[in-house]
Amino acid sequence: MKITEIIGSDKRTLSFEVFPPKNSNNYESIRSAIDKIARLHPSYMSVTYGAGGSTAQYTAQIASNLKSKDVEPLAHLTCVHMNKDNIHSTLDDFMNRGIENILALRGDIPDGMDKSTLEYAHASDLIADIKEYAPDLCIGGACYPEIHPESSSIEADVRALKMKQESGCEFLTTQLFFDNDVFYNYMYRLLKVGVSIPVIPGIMPITRVPQLKNVFKLSGSSYPLKFRKLVETFGDDPEAMKQAGIAYATEQIVDLYANGFKAVHVYSMNMPDVASAIRDNLSYILS
Ligand code: FAD
Repeated sequence: MKITEIIGSDKRTLSFEVFPPKNSNNYESIRSAIDKIARLHPSYMSVTYGAGGSTAQYTAQIASNLKSKDVEPLAHLTCVHMNKDNIHSTLDDFMNRGIENILALRGDIPDGMDKSTLEYAHASDLIADIKEYAPDLCIGGACYPEIHPESSSIEADVRALKMKQESGCEFLTTQLFFDNDVFYNYMYRLLKVGVSIPVIPGIMPITRVPQLKNVFKLSGSSYPLKFRKLVETFGDDPEAMKQAGIAYATEQIVDLYANGFKAVHVYSMNMPDVASAIRDNLSYILS
């Protein structure tokens, strides 16, 4: 089933993102964690693609394993290291496994790489190519409520998003954020320039202090005072921090639903207990 159909229904949806193993050593443990998350009956699950295509075969394997468990997969695909032939054979593999949904991404440009050598300069080029090569696939893209680090301004970033939509992108998933007002303001900007495809807010529960440094560095998200206070108060007690992080993410999700955003995506980081706690917190809201 296509993601656009899943999120297009009247019901609220909750989906989870997982990441594949980096190598065969931890394949079984990660697959087992992902299977536990799948048993929570999420609306769909997205499976990331390792930087530079490093986990390509595992993304396909994990996604098709989800399909066999009756959970609709959304397979991520990055193009920064790929030429058209690689992309087309990866798409063939996805389609042979029954995967219908792709999150089409450019990927981060490694230090020292000359941008002019890229076969696909932007995700919008990849999306246009997928649309032509495999028109039946449902294609999503990424967006950044707090601006993509390469963009000169939020206006330029939002204009680029319009190009993404015109290339055939059917829905967007946001970078994580910790302040819903940032997201609501961003939605006004998108509407103003005519980005009208569905936008799925992405929420990451922060349950461990060591996560923080990387999360803020990689996402560029702001660190609201309310969240900072939570970390200052509970950060030294792992169990309390976990509970507080789950409560904070739950509050963000409830607020999003209350403001009419029916589809929410959770960066569950392969943690079944965290995914399960959030699902339980929303049991009546999602029923
Ligand atoms: P683009 O859409 O190409 O945007 C990159 C920059 O180019 C932006 O500044 C944008 O404003 C600008 N731009 C875009 N289109 C145009 C255009 N046509 N003309 C001019 N400028 C343009 N990375 C992974 O390696 N694996 C993953 O699985 C993965 N999953 C992700 C999931 C989500 C929801 C998000 C938000 C990010 C994910 N990333 C992943 C990270 C992503 O690959 C990086 O943020 C990357 O730097 C940008 O990818 P993009 O698809 O957003 O690129």
